[in-house]
Order: sequence, then C-alpha cells, then structure tokens
Amino acid sequence: MPKLPYPNNGLEPIISAETIEYHFGKHLQTYVTNLENLTKGTEYENKEIEDLVIAVPDGGIFNNAGQVLNHTLYFLQFAPTAQCKATPGNKLIELIIRDFGSIEEMKKQMEEAAISLFGSGWAWLSLNKDGKLQITKENNAGNPLRMGHKPLLCIDVWEHAYYIDYRNRRAEHVKKLWDIINWDEIENRLSR
Ligand code: MN
Repeated sequence: MPKLPYPNNGLEPIISAETIEYHFGKHLQTYVTNLENLTKGTEYENKEIEDLVIAVPDGGIFNNAGQVLNHTLYFLQFAPTAQCKATPGNKLIELIIRDFGSIEEMKKQMEEAAISLFGSGWAWLSLNKDGKLQITKENNAGNPLRMGHKPLLCIDVWEHAYYIDYRNRRAEHVKKLWDIINWDEIENRLSR
C-alpha cells in the first residue's frame, strides 16, 4: 500500500474523506491483498509492480497488478487545493503546448476521454514511445505502460471513484479534479 501524502479529508470538497476511506482504504487494499495472494510462490512474487504490469498476460494477476499501479499513480498525483499550483512547471508546459496547443486543450481532451469511456476504466496522459504526450482510454485495469508509454496523469472512471460524492455525475467529478492535481508530481514523473 502506498502512503497517502495528505489526510483522508485533505482533498475535500473535491473528493470526500468517505470516498478516500472506501476507494483508497478498501478498494485499493483489496487489490493489494489479491495481488499478494495470487503471486505468492510464483515467479512474479518479488517483481516490481511496473515490471509485473508489463510482463504478465491478461488475467487475474494482471487485473490486480494493474489496479495497484493505477491507483498508486492516481492517489499520489493529488494534493490539497491550497497546495496546488494553478499550472504545471515550465518543462511540462512546454510539452503540453507543443503537443496540444494549450493547457486548456489538453484538459478538454482528457475530460472528453474520461467522460466518453464506456463502462469501467481510466483516461491517461502519458509520454509515448516517440516522446510525445498522448491521451488514451483504457478499459478496466489497463495501463499505457503496456504500450511502452510512460504514464503521467490518470483519471479513474470506475463508479467507485465518484459515486459517493457525485452519484451519476461523472462529468462534474472529472472537471473538478484539476483543482487537486499536484503538477510538481506529474512533472517529476517525466524523468522517472
Ligand atoms: Mn478506483
């Protein structure tokens, strides 16, 4: 389990303490426990999570490994609104303007990907193999690492991510997430 860099109520009112208690404390904990049980005594037991997500075939181990990595990237990309810069740092801004034209356009395309995804899954901003920023949609536990991309920012659109706070209003939830994005963390991922 990753350690949250904020208290359970630190992301309010965008994400409530109750959602953190369930989404982080129960959903993610279940994926971690499942993954430990499924890999115990196998060749995957001591692998790094990224290597596991790249290497394992579709199936139970992948589903749980993907969800452990996805949720780790998800929860660690947030910070309380008062601590968040309004825009990314220069290095990331340059890439966003080069590949999308503007920050607003990148946000719009990210929101569209998250809102239009049918069923459960994730919208991703990642650096692709050509070194360009790219937005993709992944079903279920999908992660763009499997296509050789470097994942930078993600939006979880499984209903458990927003149903306590926003009920069926996925679009409203998605648009509000920008207020708690820790751009320093996203930029740090470029060089990891
Ligand atoms: Mn989730």
